Amino acid sequence: MALTVTDRTADRTYAPGQTVGVLTTEALGRSGLGVLDYRAPEGGCGDGDLVEVPLGPRKVLGVVWGAGEGTFDPAKLRSIARVLDARPMRAELRSFLTRAADYTLTPLPAMLRLATRAPGLMSGTATRRVYRLSGPVPNQLTDARFRVIEALRDYGGAAVTLAELTEAASCTASVVKGLVAKGVLSEEDAPKDTPYPPLNARADGRLAGDQIAAGDALVAAVDRGEYSCTLLKGVTGSGKTEVYLEAVAECLRQGRQALVLLPEIALTADFLTRVQTRFGARPAEWHSGVTMTERRRLWRMVAEGGASFVVGARSALFLPFQDLGLIVVDEEHDTSYKQEEGVLYNARDMAVLRGAIVGCPVVLASATPSLESWANADAGKYLRLNLGARYGAAEMPEMRAIDMRAETLSHDRFISPSLAAAVTARVARGEQSLLFLNRRGYAPITLCRACGHQVGCDHCDARMVEHRFLKRLVCHQCGATKPVPTTCPACKVEGKMAAVGPGVERLAEEVTARFPDARVAVLSSDLFGSARALKVQIETIAAGGADIIIGTQIVAKGHNFPLLTLVGVIDADLGLQGSDLRAAERTFQLMRQVAGRAGRAELRGTALLQTHQPDHPVIRAILGGDEEAFWKAEAAERQSAGVPPYGRMAGIILSGPDVAQVFDLGAELARRDGPLRQIGAQVFGPAPAPIARVRGRHRVRLLVKADKGTALQSALSEWVAQVKLPANLRLAIDIDPQSFY
Ligand code: ADP
Ligand code: ZN
Repeated sequence: MALTVTDRTADRTYAPGQTVGVLTTEALGRSGLGVLDYRAPEGGCGDGDLVEVPLGPRKVLGVVWGAGEGTFDPAKLRSIARVLDARPMRAELRSFLTRAADYTLTPLPAMLRLATRAPGLMSGTATRRVYRLSGPVPNQLTDARFRVIEALRDYGGAAVTLAELTEAASCTASVVKGLVAKGVLSEEDAPKDTPYPPLNARADGRLAGDQIAAGDALVAAVDRGEYSCTLLKGVTGSGKTEVYLEAVAECLRQGRQALVLLPEIALTADFLTRVQTRFGARPAEWHSGVTMTERRRLWRMVAEGGASFVVGARSALFLPFQDLGLIVVDEEHDTSYKQEEGVLYNARDMAVLRGAIVGCPVVLASATPSLESWANADAGKYLRLNLGARYGAAEMPEMRAIDMRAETLSHDRFISPSLAAAVTARVARGEQSLLFLNRRGYAPITLCRACGHQVGCDHCDARMVEHRFLKRLVCHQCGATKPVPTTCPACKVEGKMAAVGPGVERLAEEVTARFPDARVAVLSSDLFGSARALKVQIETIAAGGADIIIGTQIVAKGHNFPLLTLVGVIDADLGLQGSDLRAAERTFQLMRQVAGRAGRAELRGTALLQTHQPDHPVIRAILGGDEEAFWKAEAAERQSAGVPPYGRMAGIILSGPDVAQVFDLGAELARRDGPLRQIGAQVFGPAPAPIARVRGRHRVRLLVKADKGTALQSALSEWVAQVKLPANLRLAIDIDPQSFY
């Protein structure tokens, strides 16, 4: 467990009373300046120490961030309240936070909050006081004292906390303390958090075919122990996970820590069992579904070296690793790596940054890489490893389009006769079919057939989506709900409200009516109260508990359904309509991912795409399976337009309650574009954001386009600093925007 701590050598220590800088988790003012001068406390402190400092009337968390500036009146300088009982933050993480803050134009305090998300850091200590029997038990005991002894005997010699003991013996604390004073009980401090079970990192030598060369390359990268970035590309089922787990094993053998990032909690069920089989124990998990106690334990153990393998969602990137030797970003193209609220960062890009700062290899794995990563590999910045075929007998599914222009279908039906016939055949053979529709709810539009009114959200510019399961209309932007109206809110005509268009719930209704004997399961993130319930459902399906699966995009991600041989895409054109620069890329990725669910085991799969545009270049690229051709064409298009990854972009979102005020500010920014023009950048807008109103706030967007290699961030800071923000207006800068909402 105990890895040696070598990182303090370059850090300075400060004698009591000396002036030190402390970065706090609280932003001060608009400048976001978070480093303040304090006096080192009694006993001194050192760089990276986690501390509690007074800030106004409050006590806040901070980290010692170098020597003080000494510009503050020494007479008013306050002292650090105390150094917390936690490992100091390493120089590597401090410098990562600084660089990430600079890149994303985020105030440092907000970055620090991401890195100190451990419950109870400020409140307690890392130890707890425990009691156990230590001396001979006297014959004469009061009833209360006797109950304490009995309770301890019930615990079978284990150490027990005061709270547990007083509850078990229904007595007061003084009874326990009395027994300590008599020497009957001993009192000691034991660590609250215990290390994770060690993993058995044997090489298991089962890689085959081109997995071997890929595995060797990654193991060699781990052995070099320096930064490198590798794109591990291979179709779903080709063994990417198998290959990078070899690199994880090598990293663990060296006594270093490995981090695997996964896009969603739902992914981990399968993954954790696999790790358990491969390494004999489960890795440490970090995501929103983990209990507070486990979070605290993980955070502390990662810092102390008591957790060697962490599997987590994007925020795991900010954990205080003691000796990080490898970062894997699985499904690197996944859009959920981009955090769209609060600190706007892309965990995939930040993983590469942290790897570069720590000096460890980074592996980006995907069947359908982002164009960014593809281009970096193409330019030779990333190494690229390819896994060609699927492992074992499994082959890529046969892919075909169903031309919806040639199918007869009533307006409220969504499964074409051709697709239905394919499903019927699977049900008869006892195989599974997946019907994919990337739309939650029952119907995307609730329309009045008398006047044409569509029910919208009162707080956003968005249509309300009917959720029959909840018996409500729901706004997918802000979550507002209202009952499904029977009378039109506009023309007051009764009984003319109609659901228009398909959502997964409606599709489920059609499936149940059409295949009455089939067992149907719906997988949509909003139908499950918890990630755990979703996991259980996925496991049930994988074990054969359904004949027809209906799913939104959550099914596109790495689950293994061995009996699945047919994937039907209800509306392959859905993603093609957006004005988003990534529309083609997203559709291509999603369709190929979904199709990759079919035929993962010995059974050959088929994927059928219902489309009105079978000749659309993206649909043809999906069907043709010539991925390199698709990437090259897409890359050429973006290159000629000067857009990412061949140019740089930043989005500015202004929002506020008063639409005119928001627009005025946007116009003022657009006018004062001097700092941007200096680097040759262009400003577009202000324009209403695609969703022009969210939660009652009007949103206006500006888009900045610059050439690659320009100092975009500093120009942006200089630019926005020119305007003074009224208190009720908000300005958010989104570097490398992914979505255009
Ligand atoms: P990917 O991550 O590319 O989707 P996986 O690593 O999940 O692929 O592999 C797909 C399936 O094939 C898994 O069930 C995995 O256990 C199995 N598999 C892959 N490579 C091997 C191998 N060399 N030996 C045994 N099983 C393998
Ligand atoms: Zn809304």
